[in-house]
Amino acid sequence: MEILEKVKALLPSDSVTRVELEGSEVIAYTKDREFFRTHEDTVRQVVSQVKKRIEMRPEKNLNMSQKETEKLIMEMVPEEAKIHEIYFEPERSLVIIVAEKPGIVIGRGGETFRKIRADTFWVPRIERVPPIKSDIVMGIRKYIHGEVDYRKKFLNRTGENIFSPRPTSRDWIRVIGLGGWREVGRSCTFVETPKSKVMIDCGVKAGATGSDVYPMLNTPEFSYSDVDAIIVSHSHMDHVGFIPALYEYGYDGPMYMTTPSLDLATLLWFDYVDVMQKGITRPLFTARGIKEAVRHTITLDYAEVCDVAPDVRLTFQPSGHILGSAFPHLHIGEGLHNIVYALDQKFSRTMMLDPSYTDFPRAETLMIESTYGSRNNIFPPRHETERQFMGIVNRTMERGGIVLIPSFAVERAQEAMAILVDNGFKYPIYLDGMIWDANGIFSAYPEYMSKTMQKKIYSGDDPFTSPLMKRISGHAEREKVWTDRPCVIISTSGMLTGGPVLEHIKNLGEDAKSTLMFIGYQSEGSMGRKIQNGWREIPISIGGGRTAVQKLNMEVATVEGLSGHSDRQQLMAFLNRLNCTPERVICVHGEASRAQEFARDITRTFGVDAFAPRNLDAIRVR
Ligand SMILES: [Zn+2]
Repeated sequence: MEILEKVKALLPSDSVTRVELEGSEVIAYTKDREFFRTHEDTVRQVVSQVKKRIEMRPEKNLNMSQKETEKLIMEMVPEEAKIHEIYFEPERSLVIIVAEKPGIVIGRGGETFRKIRADTFWVPRIERVPPIKSDIVMGIRKYIHGEVDYRKKFLNRTGENIFSPRPTSRDWIRVIGLGGWREVGRSCTFVETPKSKVMIDCGVKAGATGSDVYPMLNTPEFSYSDVDAIIVSHSHMDHVGFIPALYEYGYDGPMYMTTPSLDLATLLWFDYVDVMQKGITRPLFTARGIKEAVRHTITLDYAEVCDVAPDVRLTFQPSGHILGSAFPHLHIGEGLHNIVYALDQKFSRTMMLDPSYTDFPRAETLMIESTYGSRNNIFPPRHETERQFMGIVNRTMERGGIVLIPSFAVERAQEAMAILVDNGFKYPIYLDGMIWDANGIFSAYPEYMSKTMQKKIYSGDDPFTSPLMKRISGHAEREKVWTDRPCVIISTSGMLTGGPVLEHIKNLGEDAKSTLMFIGYQSEGSMGRKIQNGWREIPISIGGGRTAVQKLNMEVATVEGLSGHSDRQQLMAFLNRLNCTPERVICVHGEASRAQEFARDITRTFGVDAFAPRNLDAIRVR
């Protein structure tokens, strides 16, 4: 490997024993105590020459004993950091410190961190304990640490692939739609560069049937074996729902996403398998595919630059859509071309998140969503939305009813919780489905939330730990809730395509005192959209493959401004605010008419090439 030779030649040969790759990161091991203590300046110089990240680790024989290390760390770190656990990965000379306050373990300017490293000859990794116990967060961390031998080999193989020379005579770049172009659902975009092939998102389409459920992977352009990387923008099923199936079909390369995205995706995938096991349709994947996906994931923070393929460098930037959601920015070649994938996005402040990022230095090709791309897709102002929301809730409370809010487990549910708490709501708020588990994931990553919400969390004044929140776990508890009036129930699934919300509908449907309140996007063909369109008799499965007709006498209301997507005005404002001018804009993730109208108006307003291609179209961008 050329890169390894180069790094090795630049480091002092009598101190450095070996140089290896872990993904795109170069790891150098040393047997020299003094050099390990004082390596920082030397390594910094090498980093500036090779433009790659380098981590220096001690060889095994330098490691202090695990018992002594543990004792020393407990002495060094102030008690208020609340360390829960310390464990080791001897294969990589890592010590993992699990604490409630990671910042205190690191110390001012990284002081304590460096002292632990220099005195114990272990490299510390610090993880946060979420204040709400989360089996998913802890389960994933334990599973990945348990796979350390495999991970070491996998990361090494990934690194070798990223830095392989791959001579090519190609100089073109193209973007191919495999799903989610002129539709909402099964998002999947394939990017071919001179030297690499990467996939962005791979989702399923709720409410679709047959092969329309998943992306069009049976095209000659696509083959599992030559995908260098899967890049995930965010964890909604329409963006990640097919990924475990890819791993079951034999893909064994890396997948890149933020850490909260990995936790949320895993939660959604396991829930999907759970729901499918109760039904009659064959699931698209099993727990095996989920585990494969998890152990092949490389997590990145916002703004962290990472080589993911021979000529592709990836950076994630916040997109304001859900916890951990990101705009992947692909820098191709050395300054050859830039693609920014600006979906899904919210260019406006919400309770949970700050507005999406716009400060891209270059973006010759911009992909953008058109979910609300039509001229009449305008949401009311935020304060009006909240007033409408509370108005519906309060009048239902006054007549002793129940407000049933169907919601995705992620984001819309937490947004609703935050609005209720912020407006002084005083009745119980029941959370059904995976919302409680999602809350655990939220509370593990305050640094991914808005500045305002971070402040609330650090002062213990947040919706996650509010005493109003009550968890529903199981049928018996659900029955009790129906008599505990008035109250609010927030339940999955968001579009009434499955999940416990259907059980609530069966019992509250005929109750004219109660309200069914939509707060999120209802896709074409979904039960939610049908009810919005006026259906008041809906088919509901009653088990054994049979369905019954459910009458709806409850009030039906829609609050639109809470969407995690930009409306038409916010999309235009986002384009206006962009730091750079794209050469072309590709409008995807929207019903055909909305995507086309949006593209026409972008051309008219900004004078750039904009279009709304169909699935299987290939756009040559260079
Ligand atoms: Zn989404």
